[in-house]
Amino acid sequence: KLSQRLEAVANYIPRGSRLADIGSDHAYLPCYAVKKGVVPFAVAGEVVEGPYQSAKRQVKMKGLDEQIIVRKGNGLEVIALGEIDCVTIAGMGGALIASILEEGKNKLDSVKRLILQPNISALTTRQWLLDNAWELIAEEILEEDDKIYEIVVAEKGDPLKPYKNLQKELLLGPLLMKQSSAPFQKKWRNELKNWQRILKQLENAAESEETILKKKELNEKIRMVEEVLDK
Ligand code: SAM
Repeated sequence: KLSQRLEAVANYIPRGSRLADIGSDHAYLPCYAVKKGVVPFAVAGEVVEGPYQSAKRQVKMKGLDEQIIVRKGNGLEVIALGEIDCVTIAGMGGALIASILEEGKNKLDSVKRLILQPNISALTTRQWLLDNAWELIAEEILEEDDKIYEIVVAEKGDPLKPYKNLQKELLLGPLLMKQSSAPFQKKWRNELKNWQRILKQLENAAESEETILKKKELNEKIRMVEEVLDK
């Protein structure tokens, strides 16, 4: 059975897409999407030998060799120009996701939708989308096994459209902020506690230019998050 997290990612794949799942590990996501008839064809990309072998094994075991090609390579280098119209990248840090997109930019011409699930630093992912004319069209946050996951979905468009207060919404997610769901509240309540703890430590430490700057940054973030938390 697929994790709730990957099922939520799969829910955003447009029916009939030619899919590429980058950093596919066991290729659970493309196997699920093909088996359910959501997509007719998928590429599963992996840069590391072990996960690449797991992906090949899984695809074979499910009898999906005809529809899913497993390719070994770094990021988007596993897809050909014009081959793919939906890319999923899940279960990595937001900075790694952004760097994969940046390095493979030229492969994105035919791609209509990106579905990204950064484990940390969704901010970096949103920033890349903003800088590259991808418009956020959906965001989701969910809790599974005591972890909270964010999903960010984008299509080419006006990247500024969902934003009113850039700094704050890049951090929190403009659409997640509007929904303000229970996992959203929980995630930012936890972050807030964390920052307050660090701030206390800094206040007890010797003052330097660095600690002053760090405190300023933390206070700024604390203020932004306090504004969106339910009382
Ligand atoms: N996408 C799956 C999921 O969400 O469950 C697997 C996530 S797993 C934690 C991250 C995978 O990304 C690893 O298997 C790793 O080898 C792969 N990976 C990391 N950097 C990559 C890159 N630049 N190109 C392709 N795969 C990469």
